[in-house]
Amino acid sequence: MSSGLLIARATILTVNADDEVIDEGAILIERGRIADIGPSAALEARYPNAERLDAAGHAVLPGLVNLHLHSGLIRGTAEDLPVFEWLTKYVDPKHRALTDELAHAAARLSYTEAILSGTTCVMDMYRFMHRCADAADELGLRATLAPYVVDKPGMDYFESLDKNVRLVQERNNTSNGRIQVWFALEHLAYCTEGAYRQAAALAEKYDTGIHTHGEESIEMARRLKAETGRWPVELFYDRGILGPRTVLAHCVWLRDEEMELLARTGTSVAHCPVSNLKLASGIAPVKELLDLGVTVGIGTDGVKENNNLDMLEELKFVPLLQKARLLDATVIKAERALRMATIDGAKALGLDREIGSLEIGKKADLIAVDFRKHHLTPVIGGRYHNVVSNLVYSASGADVNHVVIDGRVVMRDRRLLSADAEEIRQSAQAAAERLFALREPFIPV
Ligand SMILES: [Zn+2]
Repeated sequence: MSSGLLIARATILTVNADDEVIDEGAILIERGRIADIGPSAALEARYPNAERLDAAGHAVLPGLVNLHLHSGLIRGTAEDLPVFEWLTKYVDPKHRALTDELAHAAARLSYTEAILSGTTCVMDMYRFMHRCADAADELGLRATLAPYVVDKPGMDYFESLDKNVRLVQERNNTSNGRIQVWFALEHLAYCTEGAYRQAAALAEKYDTGIHTHGEESIEMARRLKAETGRWPVELFYDRGILGPRTVLAHCVWLRDEEMELLARTGTSVAHCPVSNLKLASGIAPVKELLDLGVTVGIGTDGVKENNNLDMLEELKFVPLLQKARLLDATVIKAERALRMATIDGAKALGLDREIGSLEIGKKADLIAVDFRKHHLTPVIGGRYHNVVSNLVYSASGADVNHVVIDGRVVMRDRRLLSADAEEIRQSAQAAAERLFALREPFIPV
């Protein structure tokens, strides 16, 4: 006899160590975890009393892990500018104008967008992050929160390490462990050497991780080298933050010795291909990082540089860019890209024992993608199995039908169940209008 939820008759992409695929499979979820997985007929016979969610025509896979995003409200309004002009003209003034309430509206919008497109876990770098914790708690999302800490003079409109400590004390490991809090630093140009050393000590003290921006701009990398004699990753190493619980976003421009440092210290990278394209940063050496054994997850970055949080769209760019950069169609197969968006992202967050693949005992974070679409047809099993390729190259977030996080169905048949999606959208529209009015005095002429 069993209760629980049985997701039945789906093609299951387990993303386990063997990338096992179960055609016509089922998953039993009990008490938030995957209690059984296997052929649908066998599980349907074994668990006749489970609530049944028929997923015929769907692919069921681990929920997507967005390893680098910024909640936000300024989508589509700061376009076609070089990164540092974009930052000083529009982004920093936005930080000055942001309030607790506006940050809450931004996080609710961003986390709703994430769930609606199949993301079950995010690493968010933002401000007023106790309100991001509130939003993740409300929506049922799994979130690692990494506040924008800056300590250079004249930039006190960012977060401080003291506030980061309070957030760790108050919200780390809350909401049944769904919410984690890391120490985070904005950028080498915004933070002093002391901030990195303090963050490293605090992360050790509180047994948590560190997130920061690796370099995306070649000009900035060269400037740092000219000023300090060290390349960006070498500076991170000197300042003591590299290690298996550190995630660097972007890392577009890496010299061989920097890649070796990342590999040797077990530091992970959040690859953000669309942001790197849009801000004309370049193409990260993902293939070389993977060859060295570096864990590379995928992030969308924020809506101000992407302009959406659709991880299935993002996923397509990962192999395409490496193939074009290296003029080699064989690099980064679809299965590899899917691992980056699931288990590798989970590993970077230190959560791979709990999430990132569909295996008995893991927390039930999973999504069902509806393949009964013209752009996902045909679905072929056996020798010509095309489900993973169709997922990576042909699907988008709008194809995600059901989302389960921590064993709870938070979206069913594309309807958000954990909150009122339309109220969230309208609140975000009003908040964005307030933010633009508040930001105006800070925009440089
Ligand atoms: Zn970023």
